[in-house]
Amino acid sequence: MQLVFATNNNNKLKEVQALVPEHIKLLSLADILCIEDIPETQLTIEGNAIQKAEYIKTNYGYDCFADDTGLEVLALNGEPGVFSARYAGPQRNAEDNMNKLLSKLEHKASRQAQFKTVIALHLNGELETFTGICKGEITTEKHGEKGFGYDPIFKAEGYDKTFAEISLEEKNIIGHRGKAVQQLIQFLRKQES
Ligand code: IMP
Repeated sequence: MQLVFATNNNNKLKEVQALVPEHIKLLSLADILCIEDIPETQLTIEGNAIQKAEYIKTNYGYDCFADDTGLEVLALNGEPGVFSARYAGPQRNAEDNMNKLLSKLEHKASRQAQFKTVIALHLNGELETFTGICKGEITTEKHGEKGFGYDPIFKAEGYDKTFAEISLEEKNIIGHRGKAVQQLIQFLRKQES
């Protein structure tokens, strides 16, 4: 069975391919010659994941899954949320995004936050979603060099290091994306039996 993972990131594709049942061959967007930007115009993380999976099914005919992630900060009513990539502007710059968030939190008592990943799967005419959440807090300063995005200012609950200071393996176990992927894998394995 062929299933499109709506991503251009080959590392993500390989990681997930290693976990799905053997009879499922994952295809990337490049594999199906999808080179245009897929619309992500919804106001929720879940909405964007569903929009991307439906776009592939409608325009390319493949069963597909797509993911979307955002950082939700309690004291900012869930900001940056669905706007996480472009919080400080269309340049989508991680440093600018972190600086904006740190300055908006300067006088806030709570720094509680969570990362949320939603994976939407379009399979055999049915739509399923899987949500992975990682709770934690925003630090007052950036720490660490690993990872990407908001990793240098996010500490997971129970950790005294930021996501940018822990290994990718560790982040995958406790992180939002890893948790959502595990649910997807379990679902796909169940379809087999
Ligand atoms: P995407 O939906 O995976 O493209 O994520 C949207 C944006 O959320 C990214 O551009 C990052 O700013 C942020 N983001 C997503 N996942 C992570 C993560 O694991 N660590 C830090 N930032 C992330």
